[in-house]
Amino acid sequence: MNAHRPSRPDRPDRPDRPILVFGPWSGRYDFGPGHPLTPRRFGPGIDLIRTMTDLAGGGRIRKLAPEPASNDELCWVHDARYVEVVRRFSEQPFAGWEAGIGPGDTPAFAGMHEASAAVAGGSIRAMEAIVGGEAAHAMHPGGGLHHAMPDRASGFCVYDDPALAIARARQAGLRVLYVDLDVHHGDGVQAIHADDAGVLTLSIHQSGQTLFPGTGSVAELGEGTAAGTSLNLPMDPGTGERGWLAALRAVLPEVAATFRPDVVVSQHGADAHAWDPLANLRLTTTAMGAAARLVHSIAHRWAGGRWLATGGGGYDAYRVVPRSWSLVWLAASHLEPPSAVPAAWRERWSGEAEQYGQAPLPEWLDDEPNAGLRLDGTQEAADRGAVETAGLLRELAVPALVRAAGDLGWWRALADLGAAAQPETAGKPPAEGAPDAQKASPAGSAGPSSAASATPSAATPGDHPEILDDVDAATWLRLDMADRVMAPGDQAAGHTLVLAALQSPHRVRVTAASVAGRVVGAVISAAPEGRRLLLAVGVAPTHRRRGLGRELLGRHVRLADASAGPWDAAVTVAERDPFEPLARSTRAAIARGLLEGAGFRVERAAGPVGAADPEALVARRG
Ligand SMILES: [Zn+2]
Ligand SMILES: [Zn+2]
Repeated sequence: MNAHRPSRPDRPDRPDRPILVFGPWSGRYDFGPGHPLTPRRFGPGIDLIRTMTDLAGGGRIRKLAPEPASNDELCWVHDARYVEVVRRFSEQPFAGWEAGIGPGDTPAFAGMHEASAAVAGGSIRAMEAIVGGEAAHAMHPGGGLHHAMPDRASGFCVYDDPALAIARARQAGLRVLYVDLDVHHGDGVQAIHADDAGVLTLSIHQSGQTLFPGTGSVAELGEGTAAGTSLNLPMDPGTGERGWLAALRAVLPEVAATFRPDVVVSQHGADAHAWDPLANLRLTTTAMGAAARLVHSIAHRWAGGRWLATGGGGYDAYRVVPRSWSLVWLAASHLEPPSAVPAAWRERWSGEAEQYGQAPLPEWLDDEPNAGLRLDGTQEAADRGAVETAGLLRELAVPALVRAAGDLGWWRALADLGAAAQPETAGKPPAEGAPDAQKASPAGSAGPSSAASATPSAATPGDHPEILDDVDAATWLRLDMADRVMAPGDQAAGHTLVLAALQSPHRVRVTAASVAGRVVGAVISAAPEGRRLLLAVGVAPTHRRRGLGRELLGRHVRLADASAGPWDAAVTVAERDPFEPLARSTRAAIARGLLEGAGFRVERAAGPVGAADPEALVARRG
């Protein structure tokens, strides 16, 4: 249920009427004939969305026509000076080369300021409709200009509309999960929100070693308090739908469960497709549709259904982009995708497709397996690499308890969710400008890095929690859980996870601190094999900085069955309170002190984990 969000009265989700953001301004974002990002894609793209919606019985489409965003709005993420430069190019499109605008990827064109501002305006207004509760879902096919930076244009992108939509959500106090599925790294959005711990960006893309813009390695995890909120899954050239989808599914649901967003923004560039002329992944529309439905399910499970989807790149404008957009739109519309692409649509667009060398038009919405390409050794190696990369990112970015729960079958971050999602946290977003109750509690952090403080303050007399050693499942069932004791944070999910762990054969031990039947602190370990793994040490925000974590961990370790064998612990950037994270170095120092205090030998993590997260720790005892 939703007790941790008392300011949000339950009310039914309204997922049946998504908004399509498209209008006369959409086609004016045009770098000229011969440029790969062509407005010609809107013709067949919007036509296929309409045709498919009709065919699936979706009725009339609710539309929002973009209008240019104001200067003030653009300056939420862009420098005023840069906006002035764009305006100048807009009036004199042949004047020189500045701020990333000029011959090449992002050339000047007459009216470019207004056209670019309209793309931004479309995403901002769509976010406002979501924030205001007018719609749960919106899709902006012309949006997704994710490379634009605060002070410069880059990679066909002038103003960063996803970053602006995120900024708008942040003004309303919402936590944002941004998922970037374009074949290129979502570098602009990541950079613009890198220092905001309330925005988590996850980008899956072709590796920057082989593709523009060159960034997006696993080691770009973010810094300071925002460490752990920039996540990247770089894929080798040749990665196909199997490796790509497996990587996304391995990381995204658990990351979302841990971060607990209020709204999801996703970028659905279609340029990871096997036929795309600008990149080297081998995706299918089948995989793109599956990814869209995954993002949709996550929005319902963890973000009250709030979801803004944008388009993005995609340079096979006839065979790929229209089908990719349609699959995203059908997911947002809760419509089963029809399998066939109607002959009438193909007839309308086959002439133009042929003229641009992108014919014949496909007969099916989903592609043949592997887009009809032979599965070769390069692809098999790339697919294996994708799964390995996802395993590394998961180790870095997902708390140990949530990973163990998934690996040992205790609990899944996205259990049994199909296309028709079950709203878990449907509700009205917080009132505009209202302080977010979730952010108003005392500082601290969850997970093994959390509970102890270097300077524990005196506990209020009479308010010291009762310590429960070796809690069993029956006892746990009688307790409820305070918010944000440990990942996944959500009280109900956290309680369910620990109960399943206690009922498992994995020799799970729980030491808990309770106040009037409510768990305000806990230490959890398991011994699925010989060694005992420390999985979580957490204390609720109301009881931090009093030495409670130290006390719980000390008792937990002392009372453990001697036959349990030696102990292991690992603390990465994932172990934090996602709502009020401490600085990365502070987290590491607290974790080290806590573990050493309980008799662990602590050292810095080696190997790929240590290379990507230099403050990651491993610890052993006994
Ligand atoms: Zn929905
Ligand atoms: Zn792209």
